[in-house]
Amino acid sequence: MKALVCVKRVIDYNVKIRVKTDKSGVETENVKMSMNPFDEIAVEEAVKLKEKGVIDEIIVLSIGADTSQETIRTGLAMGGDRGVLVKTNGQEIDPLNVGKIIKSVFDKESPDMVILGKQAIDDDCNQTGQILSSLLDCHQATFASKVEVNDDKTINVTREVDGGLETIKISIPCVITTDLRLNEPRYASLPNIMKAKQKKIDILDINELNIDLKRRVETIEVNEPPERKPGVIVNDVDSLIDKLKNEANVI
Ligand code: AMP
Repeated sequence: MKALVCVKRVIDYNVKIRVKTDKSGVETENVKMSMNPFDEIAVEEAVKLKEKGVIDEIIVLSIGADTSQETIRTGLAMGGDRGVLVKTNGQEIDPLNVGKIIKSVFDKESPDMVILGKQAIDDDCNQTGQILSSLLDCHQATFASKVEVNDDKTINVTREVDGGLETIKISIPCVITTDLRLNEPRYASLPNIMKAKQKKIDILDINELNIDLKRRVETIEVNEPPERKPGVIVNDVDSLIDKLKNEANVI
């Protein structure tokens, strides 16, 4: 089986986000960027399935500027086989268009499964996997916390839902989105980082895919969250209960 794993380059989750002074977005100049954490989980799951002998090839796909090659290399150092970069001109691309781009790579590569993060931590959209499965008209399993491929190539996916855990069975080709508890991504070892430098990355120009990339969503303004009030230290449980009853707005 062949897996296409989507990895987005985002601001590192440890970085304190700064909003641009003109409120048009967030500052990304001289800011540490990393692979979206849910995408690390997606790569790890594909590598685990490869180690089990279920998957033969892992293609790591990113859509972004040239710098996204670094993110692809991280995926290759974790165990991906080759990469594809769909090169943009640095423009923001909304999930519908990301879905269309992934579909066009899917049509070229014919993978059996596409694994994505459940959400990118920069836009928090949680839409791309769902949109992609609709564009591909294939099965989807979102928020996966366990993935088991059966002998007949159907896949049992356990999903975290409000009431507990739901297990569903899907057929290939399919779209799977990863939840936090699916696995713990490995760190790439130095020898694997060196080996990844030799792995191939195909670069496709976004303008040559013949996709209508008109944005359907316009960002009007980005603002910092309101500053949190400082906390209050109470002396004992009774005063805590008193504050909760009478000053609920202190929290
Ligand atoms: P979102 O719907 O934007 O929250 O993103 C969900 C998932 O879609 C991410 O975790 C990635 O796996 C994938 N994705 C979104 N944008 C990109 C991108 N520019 N390049 C590669 N994958 C992406």
